[in-house]
Amino acid sequence: MTRSTFVGGIHPYEGKELSKDKPIQDILPKNDLVYPLSQHIGAPAVPLVKPGDKVLVGQKIAEAGGFVSACICSAVSGTVKAIEQRRVVTGDMVSSIVIENDHQYEEKEIEKPRPLEDLSREEIITYIKEAGIVGMGGAGFPTHVKLSVKEPEKIEYVIVNCAECEPYLTSDYRRMVEEPDKIIQGLQVVLSLFPNAKGILAIEDNKQDCIELFKEKTVDEPRILVKKLKTKYPQGAERSLIYAVTKRKLDSTRLPADVGCVVNNADTIVAVCQAVIHGRPLMERIVTITGDAIKEPGNFRVKIGTNYSELIEAAGGFKSEPEKIISGGPMMGFGIFETDLPTTKTASALVCLTRDEVSLLEPTACINCGRCLEVCPARLMPNKLSDFSAKHKEEEFLNYYGMECVECGCCSYVCPAKRYLAQNIKSMRKLMLGKKKK
Ligand code: SF4
Ligand code: SF4
Repeated sequence: MTRSTFVGGIHPYEGKELSKDKPIQDILPKNDLVYPLSQHIGAPAVPLVKPGDKVLVGQKIAEAGGFVSACICSAVSGTVKAIEQRRVVTGDMVSSIVIENDHQYEEKEIEKPRPLEDLSREEIITYIKEAGIVGMGGAGFPTHVKLSVKEPEKIEYVIVNCAECEPYLTSDYRRMVEEPDKIIQGLQVVLSLFPNAKGILAIEDNKQDCIELFKEKTVDEPRILVKKLKTKYPQGAERSLIYAVTKRKLDSTRLPADVGCVVNNADTIVAVCQAVIHGRPLMERIVTITGDAIKEPGNFRVKIGTNYSELIEAAGGFKSEPEKIISGGPMMGFGIFETDLPTTKTASALVCLTRDEVSLLEPTACINCGRCLEVCPARLMPNKLSDFSAKHKEEEFLNYYGMECVECGCCSYVCPAKRYLAQNIKSMRKLMLGKKKK
């Protein structure tokens, strides 16, 4: 089997050995659950409950607030304590529903959907919408919107992103090892929406056991193929993945559907299986708690809304005081300054490190070595773009295709002068996107 990949990219220290062999542990929340109304791309969800209301497991507590938005369902039974501003991992204060957990886990009555072959396209999409599913790899884009493409017969590839290319993260790996059938069933659901598509399970070759497992499990599935990818960061970025699988190029002006592709990550596909096969909304996800500051790194099945501090406690706590805590992976995640924060639908990991090597380095002048250009998967000139960002030269930034940056961080990683390339470019992109919205 040949290995597919993209141009550019890097090979950072993987750090996956800390948690990759730790089976998924189910943990129950001890304290209140917090549900930020903005935990997806698009309009914030709108509360359907008020303080004092009783809620059940699986009950919708907030409705999608627009076409691009997603509803939110409670993962516990209990009482709505408040609807108030709470801090989230990005540092922002976000209006959130706080639920006092009664620890009874009393479930709302769930009607099991009819068999998949009896469901219409509209019914399948409605189940996904009503389950509140969003891209759980970090993007948070509502899945029912992503799957509602105008011309479904033109989709040729439904790609399941099983790359998990970010260092330290092992939640998708454990899903693949422990629950492969849920991924295959979820993929079958999505394939039922696209009559001419092949399903591709795209897996990096550092997970050879998963490649073998899925090949064995799909041997009698003519519409599903396993694609071996070269282990390289950012192999799992949407554009890199589409190129590796199909050799089709995508830029910021087009959507994956424009090149005949639909991409979902492994956890999202499992959520689709749960919603359409079992009628269960999105209420839990797998989170990796890891890093050299954690006593017992591991992978945890978590009720969404659980406080991060409880997850650290479940992983044995800190063995030494972390200098840096990152929500998500070290390449694209957010540094956080406190752990009293809620997990959300997009919370894949918490990486706790004893040394913050980046903060110890002082940036120096560019030596024009060209390394940042070599590794950029978008084939940009990060050195120039970073300069334009620092000097607020908007026109030049646009002329040098700054909006094509995928914010992977490869340029900063390789820069010998330790310049804040990705950080500067990211800030400028945010500014430009804000202007465009207005
Ligand atoms: S410019 Fe953007 S896409 Fe290119 S390496 Fe840097 S962060 Fe990645
Ligand atoms: S990698 Fe750093 S030093 Fe080298 S060209 Fe890019 S910005 Fe300059």
